[in-house]
Amino acid sequence: MYDDNNVFAKILRGEIPCKKFYETQHALAFEDLYPQRRIHMLVIPKGKYIDLDDFNANATGEEVIGFFRTISDVASRLKIQATEGGYRIISNVGSNGGQEVPHLHFHILGGERVGRMLSPKTDKSI
Ligand code: AMP
Repeated sequence: MYDDNNVFAKILRGEIPCKKFYETQHALAFEDLYPQRRIHMLVIPKGKYIDLDDFNANATGEEVIGFFRTISDVASRLKIQATEGGYRIISNVGSNGGQEVPHLHFHILGGERVGRMLSPKTDKSI
């Protein structure tokens, strides 16, 4: 069940502020509150989807296209496409994936070398 009280649902309803970067009919891009790299943007669909699997199972084709194109639009507007150095996208799914906010979001990280995809698993609590 989608939780209407999650923080991104509140941002979409305008109940809490965000540093909006770009908005389309189907998606919203805003800065992550705790940036992990020089550029750390979040892209979320406007519809109520918990994660990527929920989105792919239940969104319309128009929503899916609109959402994924927004990611590339954001990269292009930030001038971080592959020709400008590139970036990384991450979408965490569920507890093993490390998802904290239960509304689908893609992290866009860039503006510098992002580094190894995953750090060695030394901490057993992770
Ligand atoms: P995840 O662990 O993939 O669910 O990522 C959730 C992300 O949301 C984290 O990177 C948080 O820093 C970010 N975040 C949480 N609350 C806010 C907020 N109010 N505005 C912007 N980013 C947020």
